[in-house]
Amino acid sequence: MLIYNARILAEDGVIERGWLRIDGEQIDAVSDTPPPDDSPRIDAGGRTLAPGFIDIHVHGGGGHEAMDATPEALRGLSAFYARHGVTGFLATTWTAADTAILNALQTVADVMADPAALNGADLLGAHVEGPYINENKSGAQPDGYIRRADRAEFDAWRATGVIRRVTIAPEFEANQALAADCAKRGISVSAGHTDATFTQMQEAVARGVDSTTHTFNAMRGLHHREPGTVGAALLLSQLRCEVIADGVHLHPAIVDLLWRVKGADGLIMITDAVRGAGLAEGTIYQQDGRRVTVRDGSAYLDDGTLAGSTLTMSAAVQNVARFTACDFAQLWPCFSRTPARVIGVDDITGSIATGKRADLVLLDDALNVTQTIVKGRVVYDVAID
Ligand code: FE
Repeated sequence: MLIYNARILAEDGVIERGWLRIDGEQIDAVSDTPPPDDSPRIDAGGRTLAPGFIDIHVHGGGGHEAMDATPEALRGLSAFYARHGVTGFLATTWTAADTAILNALQTVADVMADPAALNGADLLGAHVEGPYINENKSGAQPDGYIRRADRAEFDAWRATGVIRRVTIAPEFEANQALAADCAKRGISVSAGHTDATFTQMQEAVARGVDSTTHTFNAMRGLHHREPGTVGAALLLSQLRCEVIADGVHLHPAIVDLLWRVKGADGLIMITDAVRGAGLAEGTIYQQDGRRVTVRDGSAYLDDGTLAGSTLTMSAAVQNVARFTACDFAQLWPCFSRTPARVIGVDDITGSIATGKRADLVLLDDALNVTQTIVKGRVVYDVAID
């Protein structure tokens, strides 16, 4: 398949008017020469062709949750995310009982064993957020299940073979030991729901912590005498920072600040979306026996605590472009290559280059997603939606 007449945001730079050829699942050629006569072909009409978005922290959407632990839920999420330009995601668990997390991970493993059953974004694995976090920074994670790292418990989860990323609070010794072990095994370790001091974060980085989870949210803030987790996130170049760019979890100026400090290789745009993403305002549902209401473009517990976001990646793209006043040609790595690097799949996907997988998105001038292509196959087309 040939996509021509496109502004291509390639690994090596922007091709203002070019074509890209897909052979099977892979990008076969990228060029600015006159397009060959291949068929089938897609006329991009001058639109932007970018790497598909990779969301490494997302719980749910469209009425589904990874914690539902059903193949139907994961298939529903895959289709929902593809509508918003996502070509790969980590199904993200949250703080819960041992078996609830194990069941969710085993379901991810079952679905990954049969990728043809997915009709949208590729399921790249799982992100285990909690339960090894700090109860003082729980956010909307249910307090009752928060605990210190338990090696036997985690080993059983890891045996599913799908964990690519964990979020832990590194200020506890048991959690630090787990972090070091995960890092050694190639599992990305992120500090989140944490009260870690700046010094504790320096130690954590030495043990292999590589990133911060929904930076600024549910972590020790920046203080001029104790720079905290946030100070470490901003200052330590080893740390890549997750960002929820919905304009609610972070003030737009904070997104701009993170962009200026960390740059394209230091930021990981995530949605942290929950079941209510894509559902109508006013929708009410239960989560761990607690009521969640979708209102004002977010999801809230009854006490007003933010219960994850209803952000989509397509909205995040538009928000970040506005918050930073930057062209998407500068921003795209935060949505694909940087998250791919963090979870170690950047040799396969996350950028446009010959030999990479054809995980792509077409964007119009207003940065609306018009087509999503996963492994060389069009899985979403606004014209036939
Ligand atoms: Fe969280």
